[in-house]
Amino acid sequence: LVVLKNVNKHFGALHVLQDIDLTITRGEVVVVIGPSGSGKSTLCRTINRLETIDSGSITIDGNPLPAEGRQLAKLRADVGMVFQSFNLFAHKTVLENVTLGQVKVRKVDARQAEEKARALLDRVGVGAQADKYPAQLSGGQQQRVAIARALAMGPKVMLFDEPTSALDPEMINEVLEVMQQLARDGMTMIVVTHEMGFARSAANRVVFMADGRIVEEAAPEQFFSNPRSDRAKDFLSKIL
Ligand code: ATP
Ligand code: MG
Repeated sequence: LVVLKNVNKHFGALHVLQDIDLTITRGEVVVVIGPSGSGKSTLCRTINRLETIDSGSITIDGNPLPAEGRQLAKLRADVGMVFQSFNLFAHKTVLENVTLGQVKVRKVDARQAEEKARALLDRVGVGAQADKYPAQLSGGQQQRVAIARALAMGPKVMLFDEPTSALDPEMINEVLEVMQQLARDGMTMIVVTHEMGFARSAANRVVFMADGRIVEEAAPEQFFSNPRSDRAKDFLSKIL
């Protein structure tokens, strides 16, 4: 579904993504881990073209990423993204946050969009908050609204970039549970996270990055019990 071939990206002299080859098949849940600065966020951002790449190719369903205009808006709808900071529209209600993109990008009529939004808000457990503004919600609730907003677009794949790392501990689980459910429902997901419990239970594959490279890829059981590279061993010894 998502295929990166020999992708390279620089920020000035810094080679942030080096010869990245990565294939994500439909329904797969891939957890990306690695030290700070290893290029995890940049990797996510290239996949929905928030960042351009210098060389290599990225395709979704066999199609190269569009450069601009309507096609780019459609790409961002096909590739849902949830960030560390919740990025909701502050001056729109929760319900409006979840209907807006459907109407503008997917051209769904207003009533249908609202119906879908309410169903999704219920599904992530914030149905009662529909008429509030983001600032009136807890961080965990806001993040679940952000997930509902991305899902409302009917994405082919969801990218999560440390979705729980800005949350108070008691709110982390409510967000992880929504993500677990999404994984069980068969959503294709790329998840950057330090939540190793989630990686163990939900991931089909762990991708370990360091210094802009994919150093190791393995099933979670194998990666956590028996990492092959010294970089991964060192990283795991610090976080586990
Ligand atoms: P973290 O775990 O801290 O989120 P990360 O693995 O997500 O780290 P990236 O955010 O992808 O790492 O950053 C990779 C490298 O690229 C870092 O050295 C970072 O400073 C640099 N970088 C990221 N964005 C930019 C930018 N817009 N301009 C210049 N350098 C950048
Ligand atoms: Mg990051």
